[in-house]
Amino acid sequence: MVEEATDFKITKVKESRAHQLDPNNIVFGTLFTDHMLVADCVNGVWQTPEILPYGDISYNPALASLHYGQSIFEGMKAFRNVDDEVVMFRPEENFKRFNISAERMCMATVPEDIFMGGLNELLKLDSAWVPSGEDNSLYLRPFMFASDVYLGVRPSHNYRFMIIMSPAGKYYSNPPKVKIETEFIRAATGGVGYAKCAGNYAASLYPAKLAQEQGYTQLLWTDAQTHTKFEESGTMNVFFVQDGKLLTPKTSTTILKGITRDSLIKIAREKGYEVSEQDVFVKDIVEGIENGSVTEVFGAGTAVVVSPFSGVGFEGNDYDLPAITEKSISSILKESLDGIRKGKEEDKFNWVYKVH
Ligand SMILES: *Cc1c(COP(=O)(O)O)cnc(C)c1O
Repeated sequence: MVEEATDFKITKVKESRAHQLDPNNIVFGTLFTDHMLVADCVNGVWQTPEILPYGDISYNPALASLHYGQSIFEGMKAFRNVDDEVVMFRPEENFKRFNISAERMCMATVPEDIFMGGLNELLKLDSAWVPSGEDNSLYLRPFMFASDVYLGVRPSHNYRFMIIMSPAGKYYSNPPKVKIETEFIRAATGGVGYAKCAGNYAASLYPAKLAQEQGYTQLLWTDAQTHTKFEESGTMNVFFVQDGKLLTPKTSTTILKGITRDSLIKIAREKGYEVSEQDVFVKDIVEGIENGSVTEVFGAGTAVVVSPFSGVGFEGNDYDLPAITEKSISSILKESLDGIRKGKEEDKFNWVYKVH
């Protein structure tokens, strides 16, 4: 299924820096592996991808993506499984979504052999950087930006695709307390919410900062028109457990179609839980937390896997959720997804990609 380009131009580092990795003390996004991938698309033609020692790149100040934001990314992880093999989780889904984002931002799409083959080649070279340890992984960051040197507003003719990799540990140390946002918005119907484009994250920083000043960890976004329905949270999709049933907002142009979200829905259904993809109203959830019918609210995304919230803030009031236990649905789903990724549980859905 996955074609691999044989013609990567590879320049290896003279000496690996992998000894810099301390699996017990990983600070996310600060340390990068020995190599990176660079592939340029010139007037619609992809050039031979290169794998080079990780390092700075220099650009002309008129670089189009710096001015008008044609820039997209993906976030995925590689792990060490129980047999000490390096694996990725559903990487083809990231590949597909990357090109969906590219199309929305009017950018070149990336061929599968460069995206998938590039990840595979890089992981082979830098396998020493895939940390062992329960919550550890190697975070993979494919991204692409417009590389025309031109100040006019139009789609760029040239693009640069890159992959960099960075060791990752546990995401949040404490369960986050989230604020239900009813003033600012993340995405509107017809906009770019479903694309992993750089500007979406820039736009979220200010409202998130205000929420942090009020003592919250993260935001829970509501729909742009009415602020009555949940959308998602930060870089996570969101699930609610009400009366033992899972609820999650159905995806649309305003919600990023998370691969973790999709995986959890499939695992939950397979385990016999009822899962409903539907409108989830703020009012119903706040009432449900108060009357005890809503027992769990959690985020789902590659970075966090499953992140149960300690409580939500709404219109100045805080609503605490019961503490999570091993019997909580979020714990059971996290354990299962993790088990599949690490080869501890049978890979019934054929989700695990072994680096070869
Ligand atoms: C990446 C991301 C997610 C989670 O997607 P996964 O494929 O599960 O990692 C959810 N929401 C937003 C806004 C994101 O950027």
